[in-house]
Amino acid sequence: MSSLRPKVLRLRFTSLRTRVSTVFIALLGVTLALALIVANIGINDHGRGVAARDMASNARVFDELIALRGKQMRESAVVLANDFGFREAMATGDHATLASSLTSLRDRSGAGMALVVGFDGNVVTSAGAPQIDGALLWPSLDEGRNSGMMDVDGRLSLAVAAPIKTPDLAGWLLLVQPLDGRELRQITKLAAIPIAAEVLTADEMPQSLATLPLGQVVSRNDRGEELLYRVSIVRSLQEGLKPRLMLRHSLTKALADYQTLKHLLAAIALAGVALAAWLSTRLASGIARPLAALAEATRRFGAGEVAKVPVESEDEVGQLASSFNAMVDAIEDRERKITHIALHDGLTNLPNRRLFIEQLEVALDRRPETARTVVAFIDLDDFKAINDTLGHPVGDELLKRVSKQLQGEFPNAVVARFGGDEFGMLFPALPENEDLASLARKLHACFGEDMMVDSHMVATSASFGIAIAPTDGNDSTTLLKNADLALYRAKTDGKSTYQFFEVSLDKEARRRRQIEMDLRRAVRDGAFELHFQPLFSLKEDQLKGFEALIRWNHPERGMLSPVEFIPIAEDTGLIIPIGEWVIREACRQAATWPETVSVAVNISPKQFSSPVLSNVIVQALASSGLPAQRLELEITESIFIANVQRTLGTLHGLRSLGVRIALDDFGTGYSSLSYLRSFPFDKLKIDQSFVRDLGSQGNAHAIIRAITTLADALGIETLAEGVEESIQSEILKREGCHSIQGYLMSRPVAGEEVLGMIERNLPGSDSGLRFAVR
Ligand code: C2E
Ligand code: MG
Ligand code: MG
Repeated sequence: MSSLRPKVLRLRFTSLRTRVSTVFIALLGVTLALALIVANIGINDHGRGVAARDMASNARVFDELIALRGKQMRESAVVLANDFGFREAMATGDHATLASSLTSLRDRSGAGMALVVGFDGNVVTSAGAPQIDGALLWPSLDEGRNSGMMDVDGRLSLAVAAPIKTPDLAGWLLLVQPLDGRELRQITKLAAIPIAAEVLTADEMPQSLATLPLGQVVSRNDRGEELLYRVSIVRSLQEGLKPRLMLRHSLTKALADYQTLKHLLAAIALAGVALAAWLSTRLASGIARPLAALAEATRRFGAGEVAKVPVESEDEVGQLASSFNAMVDAIEDRERKITHIALHDGLTNLPNRRLFIEQLEVALDRRPETARTVVAFIDLDDFKAINDTLGHPVGDELLKRVSKQLQGEFPNAVVARFGGDEFGMLFPALPENEDLASLARKLHACFGEDMMVDSHMVATSASFGIAIAPTDGNDSTTLLKNADLALYRAKTDGKSTYQFFEVSLDKEARRRRQIEMDLRRAVRDGAFELHFQPLFSLKEDQLKGFEALIRWNHPERGMLSPVEFIPIAEDTGLIIPIGEWVIREACRQAATWPETVSVAVNISPKQFSSPVLSNVIVQALASSGLPAQRLELEITESIFIANVQRTLGTLHGLRSLGVRIALDDFGTGYSSLSYLRSFPFDKLKIDQSFVRDLGSQGNAHAIIRAITTLADALGIETLAEGVEESIQSEILKREGCHSIQGYLMSRPVAGEEVLGMIERNLPGSDSGLRFAVR
């Protein structure tokens, strides 16, 4: 229970509304309470002051009233004392007359008693009055005092004296009025405030009042009631009598008059607190409610919901709500942009691969039973060359144009850019009877025409791979993989074409993966060997060298041609260790040949761009002892697809080692002539596709002649590859080709056969068979 209470309190006080109103009410309550206390003190002080002042002024009035009473009594007494008959009765000692005169005076004046005190000590009193001792009065009367208090039969009374002269002073006429309760009450009635008056002797004074300062108003607490007292001396006519006038006024009663005022003030204060409580609660909830709404909206916004708050006012709280809404808008806008950036390609603003896959998955989920979902992978052909030759801005522009073209042609398809020159297309739901071949042709036709990009006429072509759900897969991963395989096949089939996925492609991919694994093992186990094919000079009519051609002695499939595994080695990077081995092995074997016989080694593009190539060559030459000029490197034009300047730099670097450089498969690449001008190759190896047609009708001669003429002009040696027939050899000789290579002389032979072949074919050698070229 005890632990519960603070928790409940804490919870209550975490509410801003409760806190604000509580603090406000508490402050106001404390302020009003203090004000009430101060007012109470003020009212009490004021009441006391007023009562004290009233008391003091009434006391004076009281004194005056007593004095006035004394004066009236004295005037009556003087009248009688001067009366002739009375004086005569006094002179004659006519007690009866005196007594009746005194009784008459007493009745007339309203006093209690009248008496005559003679010098002889006789006292004559009015009828019924007690006797008094006249001697007690003499001292005062002798001093000339003619009024004061005296004790008459135990009752303190006001007495006035008038001399009786006959003609000499014969005695005193005294008029005595007992100042008892009734008499005093009558006087007090004349006072402005309710005052109780009492005349007492000093000895009769209660102990608590006996010590009071005389003539001053003093308060005393008497049984819970606060009383104001004023004690003053009253003149005495009697020897030894010390009379006191004690006035009493109840302060409690006087202050009771202010009670209504106090209650009124308290009621106002309470009403004020209640009003303040109501107002502060309203005010606090006016602030707290929008803040709570704001907190709730923030929580919901944090949880990912779209949350806005109503703007109910124009004050700071309203402004806060507006700012919050503006912030929510800004964040949502930014999130939209970030999401857009994350899911789109920056250059073309097309969906990227991620979004494409998401949309493909949605399309596969929603695909109706009778519909087909088609995915196409598109890769621009030789885009790298466009970038390198015309610059990246042209390349970028081309990509934008291609994306616009595809979107324009296929408004119902999703066109995405996967990066570089790769695009993806998604046809979410094509009817079963849709002619996919014509769709593919339409796609292909998009790239049929040259495009004018930045004042350059650019020839575009692209290869496509197409996969169809559900036949080629029913999930995004399989479909994408199969479209990619189909694209790969389209590329290897000579580009600018399309290929539908077939199961055989998957088999081919598996085969490639198997070869890749076997190749890794072969590199580790050294399962390669070099075969050599002679290079024969038509001009000098002699054997000039050999081209080293790799063979893989596969444990299951026997001797494999490089055509089967070099591209895979190139793709996987295994070409680097394989190529290194080829260079070392070729140099090692060639060093054993006569010094006029050189060796040519094929260098693949990836190997060419390897930074360690020249080191490998230097080491191979050094360790074999083969002179650099007997090593020829065969490179293909494809090395120029990469950075032309860097390629030229590498070529010059290799040339500086002293090795010769031949351009292999010349005529199958592009822009060959510009490369011939940029670098002085030592040899052009004319591709066998030109040689094959020699001897038949056609323009093959003309091409060969053009190449040999150009090469001669540039001082480059020429060699024709794939020479199988003597007619081809004859034509080549006639057209000025320097050297030949081909089955006509020899197929590639194992390394151990090379020396024998050299021996048989060197000039002057009659031992054995010479090439049948001559
Ligand atoms: P290549 O450099 O153009 O080599 C000539 C290819 O033509 C060889 O095929 C050779 O056997 C073949 N050939 C020679 N004479 C004739 C002929 O009269 N008729 C026909 N039809 N073919 C002929 P191979 O050995 O299968 O090599 C194919 C390609 O593999 C080579 O073409 C070369 O590009 C590459 N290659 C071979 N060995 C290596 C190597 O060690 N490293 C690299 N990177 N590539 C190599
Ligand atoms: Mg070659
Ligand atoms: Mg070749």
